[in-house]
Amino acid sequence: MARYTEAVCRLCRREGVKMFLKGVRCYTDKCSVERRKYAPGQHGQSARGKLSDYGVQLREKQKVRRMYGLLEGQFRKSYHQAVAMKGVTGANLLQLLELRLDNVVYRLGFAPSRPLARQLVTHSHFLVNGRKASIPSMILKQGSVVEVRESARKILAIADGMANAQHKGVPSWLALDPANFRGTVQHPPMREEIDLSVQEQFIVELYSK
Ligand code: SF4
Repeated sequence: MARYTEAVCRLCRREGVKMFLKGVRCYTDKCSVERRKYAPGQHGQSARGKLSDYGVQLREKQKVRRMYGLLEGQFRKSYHQAVAMKGVTGANLLQLLELRLDNVVYRLGFAPSRPLARQLVTHSHFLVNGRKASIPSMILKQGSVVEVRESARKILAIADGMANAQHKGVPSWLALDPANFRGTVQHPPMREEIDLSVQEQFIVELYSK
């Protein structure tokens, strides 16, 4: 499956926010957003004018898309799924993104970042409801159980992730059983349970033009 492979810190600097794409490094003073508070590239330090409405909507969409590591086509597909669901489209979109297997692995602390979670999933290091799962975009449901396979429990990235999770805690819609390397989706996340300072209505406005 296609994915973004450029230097990820540039993405954070472009959006001007920490997107936590590098794991442990993101929590240290080596973070590029902390060290260079301007956009990357030749003109990154020149003053930028006020963004148009379209510019604001586009930046918000790019930020969320990059946080979850999706290409444009994948992200738009999630948007269309969100439109087809009952409720508020923006909140539905975030809920779908949160319920992706790679994100749940990250949120449970089985990986220190979403890109690493995605890699660990594609390498088949997890079981979902007792069966091997290797598709990062798989959407989990209420009651889905994610477990680190026995053979993967000593992988350094997983140990790092779990150390991070103990420090950060896991979201209220998930339950973690660290002794058994297992987590459960208690219920699909409500908007207020998703710890993201983004304005998802801008994404809806952008796509519904
Ligand atoms: Fe983003 Fe992490 Fe790089 Fe900082 S260290 S710029 S939060 S990916």
